[in-house]
Amino acid sequence: MRLVETDVLVLGAGLAGLRAAWAALDGKRKDQLRVTVAWAGRGPSGSSFANRNDGWGLLAPQNDAERERFVSRALEIAPPGRIAPSLLAILAEESASRLHELQSLGIRPLPRSSRVCFAPDLRAAVFRDSHTLFPALAEQIVARGGVLLPGVQALTILRRNDTACGALLVDDTGELVLHGARAVICALGGPAPLFPRHVAGTENPGTAPAILAEAGVTLDNLPYLQWMWHDLDSGRFAPIDRLAGGSVSIGDGETPLPHVFAALAGDRASHFPRAYDLPSEAMDMHLGRIACSGDGKGVRIRQEGASPLRILPHAHAANGGARIDALGRTNVPGLWACGECATGMHGANRLGGAMVAAALVFGRRAGMNAGIHARQAVPVAEGSELKEFAKLWIENERRNTSQDVLRPDPHRILRALFLRKTDEARDLLVEFSENKAAHIGIHADSFTKLIIQLAGGRLRKALPSTAA
Ligand SMILES: Cc1cc2nc3c(=O)[nH]c(=O)nc-3n(C[C@H](O)[C@H](O)[C@H](O)COP(=O)(O)OP(=O)(O)OC[C@H]3O[C@@H](n4cnc5c(N)ncnc54)[C@H](O)[C@@H]3O)c2cc1C
Repeated sequence: MRLVETDVLVLGAGLAGLRAAWAALDGKRKDQLRVTVAWAGRGPSGSSFANRNDGWGLLAPQNDAERERFVSRALEIAPPGRIAPSLLAILAEESASRLHELQSLGIRPLPRSSRVCFAPDLRAAVFRDSHTLFPALAEQIVARGGVLLPGVQALTILRRNDTACGALLVDDTGELVLHGARAVICALGGPAPLFPRHVAGTENPGTAPAILAEAGVTLDNLPYLQWMWHDLDSGRFAPIDRLAGGSVSIGDGETPLPHVFAALAGDRASHFPRAYDLPSEAMDMHLGRIACSGDGKGVRIRQEGASPLRILPHAHAANGGARIDALGRTNVPGLWACGECATGMHGANRLGGAMVAAALVFGRRAGMNAGIHARQAVPVAEGSELKEFAKLWIENERRNTSQDVLRPDPHRILRALFLRKTDEARDLLVEFSENKAAHIGIHADSFTKLIIQLAGGRLRKALPSTAA
């Protein structure tokens, strides 16, 4: 077991983690702060760099009218999720500065802007160069003396007196690394990779919800994952708003798509991901029921004059994560969260382009505040304390591993999550609960527990068998 220490430990090197580390190094005081970015990949990883077309959009309202529209529409689409108006106001206010800052690094938007999901009257800046983001941000960190630590997977947040004081990591060779720190920033991305099909890039095991929950962090909006329909043959995004009038194969039979599809098509066309509690959700639930009960080979759709389609929902970005305050702090002292690990600036549904904005705005805020905290002479925990914590944690996880065989598989959890309001989802929740006789409400907390369970099972698989 290797023992190392730093002042600010940033877990994750997506947009949020990289921006946080840069901000932590930019403190006003001249004394050098040690900042380390640790992540599972060897280069660009996670959702931030996952777009197959190398493209991405950033919603950054430029004037008061746009900011007002941004805020009012985000509030309208947030239910049934929880949104914090103060965080939303910060996002609306600061995203333009983050856009300009990228431009100063040579990352420039295309001349044309793009329609925004859920708010087609707003426009987002469009880029076609996500591969340039990683080196540009990493360079800012290295130029300020920050350390990049690739090839390590975070297993748990180390705690002393309920305060975060580092992380237990495992490196590529299976060696455990105890990383002490004065402040820890969790920027580990979302849970999409826990599901059978996802588009959230590489080197994110999807374990952030388990890591955060186990550290005692309050989580919000976790069940509200974005799901996108993809054509299994081309791999491309499938616009389900264009499916009105076709038929769908179920088993050996074929049934027409419901008439309501035509009525909802206009609403569905205003957003790529499935919605929660908005009228178009009915389309996704209908197709989802078929997709999740099928043989995994896709929902087969036929329309006159078009090639047949085989589509399945793919997990995209999460709208849930740690509940944070305006400085990116979680309820656990010494622990900050940002990017897809954090929520509150959006609820169940999110405006297109607002996640990249949130990763940059709240990544910067978390980094700045964690840096201030770390400079206040907070002592780093003793190596012996860290070792003791890690030993107990590993023993406990080993015990939990023996119970993992009883846990539900990701396909069935996908079904429960996707069909969230149906009797079938309720039946699955009852089946997955420890007390099967209990009445299980179809509410966010029940689904949150499922995702944490799934992430916990994945996390334990990363524990080296030889770990002492
Ligand atoms: C295909 C795609 C396209 C998108 N397009 C847009 C868009 O145009 N506009 C928009 O606003 N949003 C978009 N999103 C959403 C947005 O890109 C992401 O939500 C955002 O970039 C997430 O950034 P992040 O830094 O929080 O996480 P990520 O970029 O996912 O980074 C997570 C980091 O944590 C590391 N990591 C994870 N777990 C561990 C662990 N246990 N130990 C160590 N390291 C770990 C990963 O290796 C990675 O470095 C898109 C998402 C996808 C999937």
